[in-house]
Amino acid sequence: MPNDQPANTPVQGPSPPLAEANQPTTPAGTVSAASQVQELFEYNDHQLGILERALSTDRLAPYYVQARGDSWVAIRLYECNTKLSEALYGVVQALEVLLRNKIHSQLEAHTGVADWYDRVRFLDPERNEVENAKRSIADRGVSVTPGRVVAELNFGFWLRLFSGQYEKEFWVKHLRKLYSATRQRKAVHDRLMQIKTLRNRIAHHETLIRRNPQKDYRDLLEAIGWLSQIVPAWVKTTNCFEARFAERIPKKAKDEPPAASHVAHSGSQTPSNLDLYKQMLAVALEEARLGFDEGGIPIGAALFTRDGRLVSRGRNRRVQQNDPSVHGETDAFRAAGRQRSYRDLVMVTTLAPCWYCSGLVRQFRIGTLVVGESRTFPGGLDWLREHGVEVIDLDSRECRELLEAFIQRHPEVWNEDIGEE
Ligand SMILES: [Zn+2]
Repeated sequence: MPNDQPANTPVQGPSPPLAEANQPTTPAGTVSAASQVQELFEYNDHQLGILERALSTDRLAPYYVQARGDSWVAIRLYECNTKLSEALYGVVQALEVLLRNKIHSQLEAHTGVADWYDRVRFLDPERNEVENAKRSIADRGVSVTPGRVVAELNFGFWLRLFSGQYEKEFWVKHLRKLYSATRQRKAVHDRLMQIKTLRNRIAHHETLIRRNPQKDYRDLLEAIGWLSQIVPAWVKTTNCFEARFAERIPKKAKDEPPAASHVAHSGSQTPSNLDLYKQMLAVALEEARLGFDEGGIPIGAALFTRDGRLVSRGRNRRVQQNDPSVHGETDAFRAAGRQRSYRDLVMVTTLAPCWYCSGLVRQFRIGTLVVGESRTFPGGLDWLREHGVEVIDLDSRECRELLEAFIQRHPEVWNEDIGEE
């Protein structure tokens, strides 16, 4: 398999961590490629047990959910997650470097000076970040050059230059010249925001298991393509994401013992349905937080298959899209496209559904409804229960606090959403 090698990993050279762990059972001199090494690792019960303890059950929990409790599959999924994260991070980095350098060149050309960041009108947070960047460069004992300052500023800084508050100062004057005439500021901002969330997940070694990494990859390439025609082609030929994604779903070797023995082996670690529902809620909550960051009503939702495969996700975008029909549930429902049947799907939402969305659950006969909370708003839960929908209320404090924070700041938007006059 020649193309499962990341572009920057030499075939001969220092061994990756897995190779070290495996060396005692490998005849000297035969370790040459990472893929070979991984095939040689023996996933027996003893070694799996050691890995489980080394990685911690907490960390592995989402993989157990996906693997339905099977240690072998869970560990392989964890490995896949690491590989996909590595690959995606390379693409994120390409975008980040391209973006800041494009902005730098544009501003330099327009202002006629390389240290343009000292001439433009920044708001306090961005001004402070520039000053902090200069300070940390100086603290390293090197001279403060424009190139270093630009490289020191983080992704969040560049992203905020696309926000509404910099519309006049940056978008109209400079940034829109980097994009085609039809590209809207908000579309660029939203995409960069989505990429920042992905970037943070990877940087903090969080799982991508509930995201759609293929879509993340496509969206990243597209965002790079908005700025350059050459760079996406270069990324596509040198990045290993596609190859890694293609081999992503681990197949059990024929001589592996059946899954049941692993389930017995991992015993109490097998997550119950409740754990599964909590994992699902985490996705809806992520959507709600995204909505909150966008200035919208923080209600998120997602559709899953019963065994925890994500079908789609969405969030309330009444404010963002000026559309009162975009509730978390309807957004996720529309993103799922046409489904043959909804009976075996689970709708999960951070807040009990309103009448409109309760109607949707019944109309399409969605079998199970998981809600984050129903204290802020009781919705149609009793009505749905009466009509045979399985309803699970997780009474999540996180969901409640997020929504309450919004209601406190924008009571009028909230009343509008629930139809109070
Ligand atoms: Zn609704």
